[in-house]
Amino acid sequence: MKTMKAVVFKGKDRIAVEEVPKPAPRAGEAVIRITATTICGTDVHIVRGEYPVRPGLILGHEPVGVIDELGSGLEELYTVGQRVIVGAITPCGQCFYCLNGVHSQCGGSIGGWRFGNTINGAWAEYLLVPDARANLAPIPADLADEDVVLCPDIFSTGLSGAESGKIRVGDSVAVFAQGPIGLCATVGARLKGASLVIGIDSNTDRLAVARRLGANVTLNTKDGDPIPEIKRLTDGRGVDVAIEALGRQETFENALRAIRPGGTLSSLGVYSGKLVAPYEAFYAGLGDQKIVTTLCPGGKERMRRLMTMIENRRVDLTSLVTHKFALDDIEEAFDLFSHQRDGVLKVALYPDARRVNAKREMAGVANERF
Ligand SMILES: [Zn+2]
Ligand SMILES: [Zn+2]
Repeated sequence: MKTMKAVVFKGKDRIAVEEVPKPAPRAGEAVIRITATTICGTDVHIVRGEYPVRPGLILGHEPVGVIDELGSGLEELYTVGQRVIVGAITPCGQCFYCLNGVHSQCGGSIGGWRFGNTINGAWAEYLLVPDARANLAPIPADLADEDVVLCPDIFSTGLSGAESGKIRVGDSVAVFAQGPIGLCATVGARLKGASLVIGIDSNTDRLAVARRLGANVTLNTKDGDPIPEIKRLTDGRGVDVAIEALGRQETFENALRAIRPGGTLSSLGVYSGKLVAPYEAFYAGLGDQKIVTTLCPGGKERMRRLMTMIENRRVDLTSLVTHKFALDDIEEAFDLFSHQRDGVLKVALYPDARRVNAKREMAGVANERF
């Protein structure tokens, strides 16, 4: 039996690099060799035992790789050796939910999220991709792994906050929390044509990144309640759209308090426990407000769209990849990421340790941005 190296969830606060069986594709499935992946805030929730997954599962849901093996039925669409990404969400494209347009809920609630949740994930040398026909997205030749590693989840999720908020040209938008997803929501607000984008966080460095990526104004919650300043910036009304990108009562409540009557709260955070909407901010339920939630959009067409935005230089997220680690050093990488040390935003993980110190690898043009 062929084996591979993988990072396995061993129970609360325990992960380990282990040798496990290499997956083999059945009809319609593919196996990709992972060339780069990353750690997500959701992985931190999982390892800390705040989001339940079964012990023994391989974690990680942000795959960049090369097609290693194709199950039957895919030969005419893909070739072995082709570079691809796969969304964190892998819809089947055929079930009740997919055919009703909510692909992320494929098969049932949160069902589109399989990698590192209900099936083995991307923190491994190889990854089995289900419904490959709907999910393998070829990487444009002039893009490096680091250019696209945020597309499977962070860019897709952050941008979806702006899309679900239905931001219109000229809108004012407040984005609560400027972690990687909040920063991508800030990018998204600008892409969707917001005239005023207010980034809110308690971390000065992250606010500086927010200004570079498209926030006109940043507010540090350490300086006090951001709501009066948001009201002042919007003629006393509040913003048209607030995006919540952390998943806490406080940021949800602030986002609700920040929107004008008739405004939209677009929520991206992963919450736990109970969420309360305060009477005043909710206008007793009579404020014509909209609250929308979104799980990361996936599937190959979504991935294609995101990658073309990067290829055509509408977006450059490489500055968010602040650290590189070999997959073998996952514990060190996880410790740094989960404690937000050393200005970390995202870490790139490489199953091939030689990639950590290598220059950007790319089939095509030279690129000095990284
Ligand atoms: Zn994630
Ligand atoms: Zn489906």
